[in-house]
Amino acid sequence: FEQLRATDPEIAGVVLGELDRLRGGLQLIASENLTSPAVLAALGSTLTNKYAEGYPGRRYYGGCAEVDRAEEIGIARAKELFGADHANLQPHSGASANLATYAALVQPGDTVLAMDLPHGGHLTHGSRVNFSGKWFATVGYTVRRDTELIDYDEVRDLALAHRPKMIICGATAYSRLIDFATFREIADEVDAYLMVDAAHFIGLVAGKAIPSPVPYADVVSCTTHKVLRGPRGGMILCRESLAQRIDKAVFPFTQGGPLMHAVAAKAVALREAAQPEFQGYAEQVIRNAQALAAGLADEGMRPVSGGTDTHLALIDLRQVGVTGAEAEARCDAAAITLNKNAIPYDPQRPMVSSGIRVGTPSVTTQGMGEPQMRQIASLIARAVRTDPAAAGGTDELARIGTEVADLVATFPAYPRG
Ligand code: PLP
Repeated sequence: FEQLRATDPEIAGVVLGELDRLRGGLQLIASENLTSPAVLAALGSTLTNKYAEGYPGRRYYGGCAEVDRAEEIGIARAKELFGADHANLQPHSGASANLATYAALVQPGDTVLAMDLPHGGHLTHGSRVNFSGKWFATVGYTVRRDTELIDYDEVRDLALAHRPKMIICGATAYSRLIDFATFREIADEVDAYLMVDAAHFIGLVAGKAIPSPVPYADVVSCTTHKVLRGPRGGMILCRESLAQRIDKAVFPFTQGGPLMHAVAAKAVALREAAQPEFQGYAEQVIRNAQALAAGLADEGMRPVSGGTDTHLALIDLRQVGVTGAEAEARCDAAAITLNKNAIPYDPQRPMVSSGIRVGTPSVTTQGMGEPQMRQIASLIARAVRTDPAAAGGTDELARIGTEVADLVATFPAYPRG
């Protein structure tokens, strides 16, 4: 770090500023986590220098013996941890993993059935501003108005009506378990591929805290940086029969040289996730999310679908009379980082939205448990209800920020020394 400071004080200042931000506040973004020093060391290593187009033993460049070992170790760990026939660790991100999965399984113009974005789906599941919505005919399924759970009858009806080539399940803002067996049945009824986008919950699967999609899916795509607590990146798991198609779809079809420092860091994270402690971590992540959701419900903030089975909760703020955008800004002013989020059938536009999404991967990594979640729920509720434009509003938000600082001082992110 001293070398960075000497060469580029401006960027060194950014790195330190971000570390201070992580240490000084609550990180409740459901898609983030705090990587270990070992993962950071692999990311910041000389492996970033190496060109290694191709796969271990079949590269287009010389000098790949060491990076081959990193990738082989990572692939073996992923296969072992998830019981998958095949793993590809090269996708640069979750979106890249999804692009490669589409490229392997469907042709432009084909029909794909996936969860509607406003109901929790991801951009790559058919949004018109994304390749998925531009190049494929996407049909969206929703959650039921009454239960706010995936409507499997609707999924089946849409599948029978539209005969998709691929069905996608897995979401960005859905807090409940997904019935992979039913999705498999529906996919089989219409002879479609089943792609599970496990970006959000693959870490919970690694920790054996929720059921695995691997036995049901043709392809499981995911990110490595959420609950799994690895470097920013993507990964694809699949059946042996699709292995070659997936590998070719990642390289050379959608990507060039892999980021070997990231591949090595993914291998480190997979080793960490295979330790018994990680199972305890994954279970605590869920207990914490449930405690946080219950605490917010007690504060008059309704969890969508009534609660959560995973690492995140989606909170409907309409009863409080505050929009998601206002809540996000107020919490930000109190050193609580979370995001505004559309709720199902949201009357507001996405940039305003009626909800917030909260997640517990980071605070659980910091060692917090259910008592702290109750405290956090009350801090969030106070911040959300504090209008900075009202008399004393900014003072109250600053006071909440001080209480947040006291709490995180006991559970530091990246402890000093
Ligand atoms: N798929 C889902 C379900 C996601 O939630 C996300 C990101 O949040 C992605 C894919 C994309 O991941 P990335 O941001 O790494 O491209």
